[in-house]
Amino acid sequence: MVHLLSIGECMVELGQAGNGLLRQSFAGDTFNLAYYAGLCGDPGLRVSYLTALGTDRLSQDMLAFMAEHGIHTGFITRIEGRMPGLYMIHLDKGERSFSYWRSTSAARLLAQDGDHLRRAMEAADIIAFSGITLAILPPDDVETLLSEMRRAKAAGKLVAFDPNIRPRLWDDAERMRRVITDGARAANLLLPSFDDEATHFGDADIAATQARYLGLGVERVVIKDGAKGVTIAQAGRETVHVPAHPVAEVVDTTSAGDSFNGVFLAGLASGASVEDAAAHAAKIAASVIGHPGALIPREALAI
Ligand code: ADP
Repeated sequence: MVHLLSIGECMVELGQAGNGLLRQSFAGDTFNLAYYAGLCGDPGLRVSYLTALGTDRLSQDMLAFMAEHGIHTGFITRIEGRMPGLYMIHLDKGERSFSYWRSTSAARLLAQDGDHLRRAMEAADIIAFSGITLAILPPDDVETLLSEMRRAKAAGKLVAFDPNIRPRLWDDAERMRRVITDGARAANLLLPSFDDEATHFGDADIAATQARYLGLGVERVVIKDGAKGVTIAQAGRETVHVPAHPVAEVVDTTSAGDSFNGVFLAGLASGASVEDAAAHAAKIAASVIGHPGALIPREALAI
């Protein structure tokens, strides 16, 4: 049994359902990753999600949703008086925009207890987190989380980090770049999106992103570049390119990167090569963007 632990924030999602109605769902980058890893992983993969939730009705519903999808919730702490973050998707002539209510979410307290984090990570073989996980934490808790990540990495676990750079979540761009870089150093597998890296770190091309992260001592860097596929750089090995899977019609790109990450890690967990894991992840990501929403049901995906 291989155990994948994903750490971060899952939010309540309110999407337009026509006639002024809203449809409620749940989503968040690291949770989406866990969802797709669970959906596409082999039966020997156990997937857990670590976050903090409240004791309210929405938190209860979210836990039930996770359990229904086979995601283990035993490492989720419950905080009296806090609630999950929430966001609403607005649709205007096919263009999506988002409003967030997340500044006091329970998830912001997920890294208050270093012992709890350590116990969860010790039980895992693969640990995933993102720049969003780091962005929502108070500065001291960032340090707590990263020191446990470094410990897990030193213990030989696979520690995967998607920088998922969201400047709106950070007060200060300089600190954002510094903390993301610290997050990368604490990991041994990086899953960046080239667009974000070029915009926020000024990388001129994929080779620059690759060199910057390998230069930090990260062993593997898998750079996602939308329809152009992924470039996989590994210390001491030839760089390889894995093409994207063709998509008949791009309906909604939400969760493309998250589903790629989840399926890729599930592939590595089952012993697949990085190339095969990336090719399968590209196939599922292509299917995800052919459907509306973040979490596509199994029957709609090319699994
Ligand atoms: P993110 O969502 O993190 O910005 P990308 O846009 O690079 O990440 O997408 C992640 C993966 O989804 C890509 O590596 C690719 O496999 C797939 N993908 C994204 N956009 C397309 C597209 N237009 N056509 C085919 N595959 C795509």
